Amino acid sequence: MRIHLINPSTQSFGVAVITPRWLYVLASATGSEWGDPRIIDETLEHVDLETIDAGDVVGIGIHTGNARRGYEIGRQARKRGAWVVFGGIHATLFPDEVVTHGGAHSVVRGDGDVIWPQVIADCLAGQPQLLYEGGRIAGDQFAAARWDLLPEGRYMWASVQTVRGCPKHCSFCSVWRTDGQQPRQRAVDRVIREIVELRRLGFRFIALADDNFYPVAFGDLAQAKRRADPSRLRELEALRDERFELMERLSELPDDLVFYTQITMEAAEDPAFLDAMRRAKIRGALVGVESVTAEGLKDVYKGFNLAGDELVARLRAFRRHGIHVLGSFIFGLPSDTKDSFDATVALAERADLTFAQFVLLTPFPGTVDFEKWAARESLRGTMIEGVPLTQHWLIPEHRRPRLYTAHPTMTLEEIRLGTQRAWDRFYSWRHVWTRSRVVESVRARIAFVLISKLYRQMYANTGIATDSARVQRSARWARWIAYACRRLFLGKPMPDLEIPGERLAQATYN
Ligand code: SF4
Repeated sequence: MRIHLINPSTQSFGVAVITPRWLYVLASATGSEWGDPRIIDETLEHVDLETIDAGDVVGIGIHTGNARRGYEIGRQARKRGAWVVFGGIHATLFPDEVVTHGGAHSVVRGDGDVIWPQVIADCLAGQPQLLYEGGRIAGDQFAAARWDLLPEGRYMWASVQTVRGCPKHCSFCSVWRTDGQQPRQRAVDRVIREIVELRRLGFRFIALADDNFYPVAFGDLAQAKRRADPSRLRELEALRDERFELMERLSELPDDLVFYTQITMEAAEDPAFLDAMRRAKIRGALVGVESVTAEGLKDVYKGFNLAGDELVARLRAFRRHGIHVLGSFIFGLPSDTKDSFDATVALAERADLTFAQFVLLTPFPGTVDFEKWAARESLRGTMIEGVPLTQHWLIPEHRRPRLYTAHPTMTLEEIRLGTQRAWDRFYSWRHVWTRSRVVESVRARIAFVLISKLYRQMYANTGIATDSARVQRSARWARWIAYACRRLFLGKPMPDLEIPGERLAQATYN
């Protein structure tokens, strides 16, 4: 009997950029009673079903994008006599669908860190429950990951989580509903211990896989100050102080480490926070810009972002503090026009963005946008290959529409082509080479160019193109570049690296 943990993917690249953290967290939650779990990340290679035997437990984690592939694996694993358990955001939202389409014996809703051993024990006793409520566990219950199980040389970046949940409520995002709006921060010591473990193994690049690294904005503090009861203010100040404490501890780690996180652009209001990020070696951040106009921001309930020149100033503030921004933009918003594509790329360049991504507005389940879209009378009865459009993730990938909402002024094809053009322009050789000036040596500039091209191949062409030959060509390119790049990210292992402050704490204790 074995435990298998599977991250489904239709595309396998042989090497991957970021470690899917949940696999290694659940491996740690599995404990030692049943032996080490078998970890299969299909972004590296596809699962070999022959390795799954009757009586094994197969845990499959899905989000909307990989649900269909996850269901295929679930059905096949069940046919082989294994216990099939699904978890992840999509399973949390649609437990019934997972049972119907994925052959699940059980579904875990919410966080799996604590409940997972019970699920395994029930399966092995032949009595799994249909539904387990993992809930939203507190930060001090987040499991550390089993990094000792990582395959060597396959991932460029490791990933560590420091906070779950986001207080905002953007209309296209499900994070605030699934992970909650109350930030749940992990104890600083635990985060540092895990990072030290990763650096000992040779990882230099680590993604802080957080929903929002800046969970307390000045506006939140001002609002709490206006309340008669000071407890909320104290709570927010404690969260903020803990962020600074984490960054202070990160700054004590080896200088060759590079961290990357996700953050709202509000952080640019706070120079002390940006300075602390720079000292903490947080060299990059994904910032959800979404739209360059005030109307576009209203479309997505993101009024806390800025537009126009103020937006440029905010984004540049990151760069002034040594933090490279990957700006994320959405196309297909009702207020977009034919000029939006070029205007967005021009702003991205003016704002000194180091990387950018341009995504198509998609109604993802769990979001406000999805609820409004799926409730439309006009969609009732619309089917593709026998699947209702409102369950678009179940439609075979090559038949899936790239856009789901009719636009007031543009055809869907105009939006798709405009988006492709934005990627092409931002990642043209000339523009990428010019941007590569952010690093100094020729070797580093070449690495920068390769990474930019890799990013574009992995995320642009395979996501927007409708022609399958182009998708396959992009996947081949991405695979080739990824192999060429991966060594650039790894450092010499530091097996003797100590946890900063730990020896001092022990000496004091002794
Ligand atoms: S898009 Fe970002 S800021 Fe908005 S709710 Fe989601 S995680 Fe929070």
